[in-house]
Amino acid sequence: MKNIIIFGAPGSGKGTYSDEIVAKYNMGHISTGDVLRSEIKNGTELGNIAKGYIDNGQLIPDELMIDILAKTYDALPKGQGVIFDGFPRTIAQAEALKTMLAERGDDMGMMIELVVGEDVLMARLLNRAKEQGRADDNEETIKKRFEVYHNQTAPLADWFEKEGIRNTFTWKGSKETMLSEIFAAIENNA
Ligand code: ATP
Ligand code: MG
Repeated sequence: MKNIIIFGAPGSGKGTYSDEIVAKYNMGHISTGDVLRSEIKNGTELGNIAKGYIDNGQLIPDELMIDILAKTYDALPKGQGVIFDGFPRTIAQAEALKTMLAERGDDMGMMIELVVGEDVLMARLLNRAKEQGRADDNEETIKKRFEVYHNQTAPLADWFEKEGIRNTFTWKGSKETMLSEIFAAIENNA
C-alpha cells in the first residue's frame, strides 16, 4: 500500500475514515492528536508541554511535532503503508514529511482532503464533547481551532495540489457515500 495523508478541519472525520481505511487495507496509522493525548494521559514531559497548546486550540510547535512524527513513523512496521492523520498541519510540517519520507526511500503517496461545512463540523464536535469529553471540544476552543485551521492548515491544500496528490471529497450527508468514493480513489491510486 502507498502512504495516505488524510487532511481536513477539526471534526471532518479524519479519525473515523482512517479507522475504516486501516481496517480494510491493513495499513499503519499515525494520529498525532492521539499520540499527544496519550502523552498527556501518561503525564509525560511532552504531554505537559502539549496540553497547554491543545487546551488553547493552538498547534504544537513544528520542531517538536516533526520530531514526534519521525519517531512514531520509525517505530511502525515497514512495507504496508501508513495513514497520516492530523499531520502535516503547516507548510513546514509538510516539507519536513516529504523530506523525511524521501530519506527513507518512501513518498507521501496520496492526500485525501475532507471538505465539510462549518455548521456540520461544529455540531459534530459539540456532540463528541458529550460522548468523549475531550477538553478541547468546547465551543470557545473549537472556534479557535477553526481559526487556526483556516490560517495555518487550509493553505496546505494548494501545496498538495502542486505536489499532484490532492484528492478532494465533499460531505453530502452520507458516510457510506463518502467511504465508497474514498475507497474507489485509493484503489485507483494503488
Ligand atoms: P479531529 O480529530 O476531529 O479531526 P482535530 O483535527 O482538531 O479534530 P486532533 O487531530 O486530534 O484533532 O488534534 C488535536 C490537537 O492536537 C490540535 O488542536 C493541536 O493542538 C494538536 N495537534 C495534533 N496534530 C498536530 C500537528 N500536526 N501539529 C501541531 N499540533 C497538532
Ligand atoms: Mg482526530
